[in-house]
Amino acid sequence: MSYVQEVLKKTVEKNPGEVEFHQTVKEVLNSLEPVFDKHPEYITAGILERIVEPERQIMFRVPWVDDQGKLQVNRGFRVQFNSAIGPYKGGLRFHPSVNLGIIKFLGFEQIFKNSLTGLPIGGGKGGSDFDPKGKSDTEVMRFCQSFMTELYRFIGADTDVPAGDIGVGGREIGYLYGQYKRITNRYESILTGKGLPYGGSLARTEATGYGVVYFMDEALKAQGKSLKGATVVVSGSGNVAIYAVEKAQQLGAKVVTMSDSNGYIYDADGIKLDTVKQLKEVERKRIKEYVEIHPSAQYHEGCANIWNVPCDIAFPCATQNELDAKAAEILLNNGCFAVGEGSNMPCTLEASDVFLNKKIIYSPSKASNAGGVAVSALEMSQNSMRYSWTFEEVDAKLKDIMVNIYNNASNAAKEYGFEGNLLVGANIAGFLKVAEAMKAQGLV
Ligand code: NDP
Repeated sequence: MSYVQEVLKKTVEKNPGEVEFHQTVKEVLNSLEPVFDKHPEYITAGILERIVEPERQIMFRVPWVDDQGKLQVNRGFRVQFNSAIGPYKGGLRFHPSVNLGIIKFLGFEQIFKNSLTGLPIGGGKGGSDFDPKGKSDTEVMRFCQSFMTELYRFIGADTDVPAGDIGVGGREIGYLYGQYKRITNRYESILTGKGLPYGGSLARTEATGYGVVYFMDEALKAQGKSLKGATVVVSGSGNVAIYAVEKAQQLGAKVVTMSDSNGYIYDADGIKLDTVKQLKEVERKRIKEYVEIHPSAQYHEGCANIWNVPCDIAFPCATQNELDAKAAEILLNNGCFAVGEGSNMPCTLEASDVFLNKKIIYSPSKASNAGGVAVSALEMSQNSMRYSWTFEEVDAKLKDIMVNIYNNASNAAKEYGFEGNLLVGANIAGFLKVAEAMKAQGLV
């Protein structure tokens, strides 16, 4: 059995039941097989055995009182996965599906994603099984205050800097930041995705979605194609989806779908993004309300069939494992020639194989959605300098970073004999930097 397969087997045995974590470790490790022929020194240094084991995993109780005066208890997580190239960095997810396996999958992905940005940030992730949906602002505030009352002792501007993710947007970051400041009496850059009046970066809100499209634009250009005139299917209607739609539309694409966890909308004339922003960012309503305002559009209950809508390019931007092999086949049969992952691990392993075998453009999330964490790192830099860049400056840096990630992934794929396979290329390019740093720092 190869070194990679041995580590993989032990990792699955040691972490029973953590299916999403197994899935990402399999994807990454399998694609690293060719690295160890060139770099046997990484086997001696035990890089893989160490990289699959988080440096620290924190789980804690989050008690809070709801608006009826009833006591509620949720579980909080922070997994500090790898600090070889910088302080732990990665979002917080508040969603009822959150468990240790989900946080570990996201934290593991984050190591390579952060490395790909070229910026000095390590990998971490956290969150809670708390569901902000249907909660009042004051309930969300009390939960966030309780969450931070435990978390504050483990984070720091040079230690671990969380950000948002599913269920954690500007409102939650504000409450978390306020509580950190109150406990510690320090105005530090311990969170990113902050509001503009208190240290946030311009273009952070747009960064992940814009980045997904910048990455795709570059991949399309390499094949003489473009977004202009393309029909695009997007899933989700949260932060990533909204700004992926905005940039795709700016570049001339026609986006015809968006969704939430209840169902999807299809607007043959093109999604009116102002309506979606109003419904989702301002009123916190369901996507089905869109058809009340635009009756020519259709609403379909359930999300699975969104991939049946014919398109040239698909951007899954909702959640993990939202696109399976059957959906992948349908997309291809309908002529789809490019898939850009906006959410983390939206395609099952089998779906990725369908795209890779067909050799269409397929950008894995750790490469294509790295724009969010990249601008988070730029937010940290601005906070350190006590200075703010303009929107245009941040946006230009974001674009450069996404183009570099595309080039690095594409070049690594070619160098290791997998030309055109951006998944293998991204995994190898992200891994090499972290492996070098771990080797240099000795057995820690
Ligand atoms: P949001 O909470 O803003 O939006 C999530 C969207 O996905 C909502 O439309 C939500 O619908 C939908 N969704 C969530 N869970 C499910 C589910 N189980 N089934 C179907 N739809 C679902 O999150 P973000 O946009 O920030 O994040 C989306 C993805 O992008 C996640 O995978 C996240 O990890 C990833 N990501 C986010 C980054 C960021 O900067 N925000 C950075 C990098 C990655 P509903 O409202 O009904 O729940």
